[in-house]
Amino acid sequence: MAGRNHLYVPGPTNIPDEVLSAMHVPSEDHRSPIFPELFKPLLEDLKKVFKTETGHSFIFPATGTAGWEIALTNTLSPGDKVLIYRFGQFSHLWAAMAKRLDFEVIVIERPWGEGIPLDDLEARLKEDSQHEIKAILATHNETATGVTSDIGGVRKAMDAAGHPALLFVDGVSSIASIDFRMDEWGVDGAISGSQKGFMLPAGAALVAFSQKAIAACDTAQSRRAFLDLKDQLASNKDGYTPYTPSIPMLYGLRKALDLLLEEGLENVYARHYRLAEGTRKAIAAWGLELCAKPGFESNTVSAVVVPAGKDARDVIATAYSKYNISLGAGLNEVAGKVFRIGHVGDMNDVSMLGAIAGVEMALLDNGFDIKAGSGVAAAIEYYRTTA
Ligand code: PLP
Repeated sequence: MAGRNHLYVPGPTNIPDEVLSAMHVPSEDHRSPIFPELFKPLLEDLKKVFKTETGHSFIFPATGTAGWEIALTNTLSPGDKVLIYRFGQFSHLWAAMAKRLDFEVIVIERPWGEGIPLDDLEARLKEDSQHEIKAILATHNETATGVTSDIGGVRKAMDAAGHPALLFVDGVSSIASIDFRMDEWGVDGAISGSQKGFMLPAGAALVAFSQKAIAACDTAQSRRAFLDLKDQLASNKDGYTPYTPSIPMLYGLRKALDLLLEEGLENVYARHYRLAEGTRKAIAAWGLELCAKPGFESNTVSAVVVPAGKDARDVIATAYSKYNISLGAGLNEVAGKVFRIGHVGDMNDVSMLGAIAGVEMALLDNGFDIKAGSGVAAAIEYYRTTA
């Protein structure tokens, strides 16, 4: 089909041309005397995006999933209790990983569409007077349902309970696009990946750990090798990596960080809010609902529920085959029930309108009872008046 495929999945996201060009580099010796000139500032600037001055940032040649494992195995011992709320595919997978790694996992089920219930968390932590729970695993932005939880609120709940557990946050689809404050929120492990807000291909696990988490590495008995933070720390201090890095990825990251920091993080967050809000206006105009319950709406992805009798997979298939746009599928418990519109990364009002128009056509083609142009009109009005 002529024209490019329009990518509106919530990761991997569109890669800006400047980042693509920056990645077009010849191979380079990663042990050269000048390599630290590239690598050290990357670690420093990553800390700015995570909003940590006291923590350490790391770049692993891996993906977000490895970030979960890095946090767990470097700081905990087999049998340690960890607590996680399960309300979507990614919190589900993190809980499953923790079980496979032999932790005692307290999984608290929440309806898919809701996020972390702060009162419940505080009450559970107060009950744990012996402080047996060693870590809270918090999914900041549940990409499967388009749900954002309040991590500042999680920290408050932990403090109100006087609980010393480590706080690990999956920010794979929030960091670099939704407000995230590692130091202020007392996050001990912040986990992200290169292919969403960072606008890069998948292949880098971008993570940051607090001093408390780094100190926990000394006593953690979990087995680890490739993902050992201590190996990274030993090499990173001189500006090197413990194994061969992806040089194009590092140059791409350099450019992506420049773009994010030039725009300004607060502006990046505001842009994502507007992109999301315009999308939400369109969804409301179609008479459809978000999977996210009020108060949990995500600014990086909207999961749209289709009415009974409809299959969201048909919408996604039509959108792809007829209009050359890629939408996110419903995963696991919400398969067929939702389709997802990603509004994360290198996007602006007009690219978002392409997504909204494409979805609108696919909905009409699949017999949804909507008025042609209604979603686009609602989004146009919003974008025009708030630009
Ligand atoms: N956590 C969240 C919230 C995600 O959205 C994803 C991937 O989409 C992951 C973790 C897993 O990341 P990866 O696919 O990079 O391993």
